[in-house]
Amino acid sequence: MPTDPFADVLAANAAYAGRFELADLEARAATGLGVVTCMDSRIDPLAMLGLQPGDAKILRNAGARVTDDVLRTLVLATHLLGVERVMVVAHTGCRMVAGSEQEVHAEIRAAGGPDTRSITFLTTGDQEAALRADVQRVRSWPYLGDVTVGGFLYDLDTGRLARIC
Ligand SMILES: [Zn+2]
Repeated sequence: MPTDPFADVLAANAAYAGRFELADLEARAATGLGVVTCMDSRIDPLAMLGLQPGDAKILRNAGARVTDDVLRTLVLATHLLGVERVMVVAHTGCRMVAGSEQEVHAEIRAAGGPDTRSITFLTTGDQEAALRADVQRVRSWPYLGDVTVGGFLYDLDTGRLARIC
């Protein structure tokens, strides 16, 4: 019988559940904060911002981009889940800045993947301009509740956040 590829994390969860202490958390974001950031595994959003579970709504995707699904989620977060301020946090060394759409398609193909050219990965050659545009997209989205939005760049080497807009 093949080994369960999830055995390690299920074992860890059993231990976690044995000492579980978060059952009383509210669903609303306790600090009123929403964070849009990259899926990059080197980013620890809660620790980066001095937060605990229950404090913030964390939305992640490749490149920390404000997609339609991020906007959909923020409508719920701002009207129903207590979010009053949103940080869009891009980061240094992001793969979505390092190459063009064509290069990412070619890289996936070279790794044995399918032809992905029908997908737009939202790469950018100008990270700051993309961040400013994404922040503006949130600010101008008419369905959101009253919300303050900021754009930030997280430095993977120092752990420091810089305010961009
Ligand atoms: Zn990234």
